[in-house]
Amino acid sequence: MTVYSHSKLSCFEQCPYRYKLNYIDKVETEIEETIEAFLGSRVHQTLEKLYRDLMFEKQNSLDDLIDILRKDWEKNWNDSIIIVKNEYVPENYLKMAERYITDYYKRYHPFKKDKTIALEQRILINLDEEGYYKLQGYIDRLSEVKDGFYEIHDYKTNSRLPLPEYIQNDRQLALYSIGVLDSYPDAKDVRLIWHFLKFDKEVDSTRTSDELEELKKSTIQLIDSIESEKVFLTNPSGLCSWCEFHDICKEFSHLYKVKDLPVNEFLSEDGVKLVNRYAELKAKKKQLTLDVEVEIEKIEEALISYSEKTGESVIFGSSNKVKISKSKRYTCPEKNSKKRIELEEKLKKMGKWEEVAQLDTNAINKIIQENEWEKEVIDVLLEYVELQESSRLYLSKYDLGT
Ligand code: SF4
Repeated sequence: MTVYSHSKLSCFEQCPYRYKLNYIDKVETEIEETIEAFLGSRVHQTLEKLYRDLMFEKQNSLDDLIDILRKDWEKNWNDSIIIVKNEYVPENYLKMAERYITDYYKRYHPFKKDKTIALEQRILINLDEEGYYKLQGYIDRLSEVKDGFYEIHDYKTNSRLPLPEYIQNDRQLALYSIGVLDSYPDAKDVRLIWHFLKFDKEVDSTRTSDELEELKKSTIQLIDSIESEKVFLTNPSGLCSWCEFHDICKEFSHLYKVKDLPVNEFLSEDGVKLVNRYAELKAKKKQLTLDVEVEIEKIEEALISYSEKTGESVIFGSSNKVKISKSKRYTCPEKNSKKRIELEEKLKKMGKWEEVAQLDTNAINKIIQENEWEKEVIDVLLEYVELQESSRLYLSKYDLGT
């Protein structure tokens, strides 16, 4: 059985076709590194160096560490790194990385709260007793605060702080904690810690043994569905722009076929022409519908005032007629309004609430029109409800000969 990883599972969940191209067909692509990924790697490297030196009883000063970061940045920098936000230059990102390291250093210096057990540690996770379903992962830093109390640290350079649900449902570190519990027999407790460096924020969580058992089950189910998958459908989403297979994906093959054509050839390509015309007609249809609705509304208003002026309730055209029917209905005050709350309280006190729970408009109208309640109670109701008149128009055919 293949050894899975959290990123492999996530890839399948995001898009089965991307998974196939990546892990089954092993299609090679030119990997374009974004500045965000580059920054993340440099920050990880610097923090790894900080703790590795500490393991050798060498404590770097903050200046030393910033120097390590800058040297690592320069050594690895290359001009193919993509900066999507073109209002920023590499210097801005380097300064961000320096701030992340500075904040982290100040927050945890002198780094004596725990003992580092391992850095960039490969961890193997057995999901079942037989060891058939396996996963592997790498822990940024594994530490121990006191005997048997372990902590898994993960550095994040995300530009957004995730919601608490993300932390509570995060699969990656929870899976790693299964591996730690198996690998370190003295482990009594494993705390999961995310360092959101951009925000100088530490977020932590733990998982109960029941939650870990549930996680094992759901992960095994996911692996089973990957193993039995035959079709590997595409799942286009906002994440496609970040997909390394964008240019060979069947969802975008037409785009890549036409996008670099000269403008006149592009505009006369059959597919482009059809889509453009289709979009044009759809937009026209939408506008026409809007225009017609506005005109219908105006004519309805004109028919109502014609009927009011002449006293005629049925108006005839050449072969159609419109019947204007007027009705009066009581309406209750708006939900959550002061009047509504007062009315609800009064009805409850008078023992009538059960009969009109939720202040159902039909029930209220029936009660008032058919005098179903005592006069004093109806009088109270009338203080709060409003009588509104409305008109309905019914269009039908007519034939004078029949
Ligand atoms: S471009 Fe989108 S749909 Fe195509 S493989 Fe990538 S993620 Fe899937």
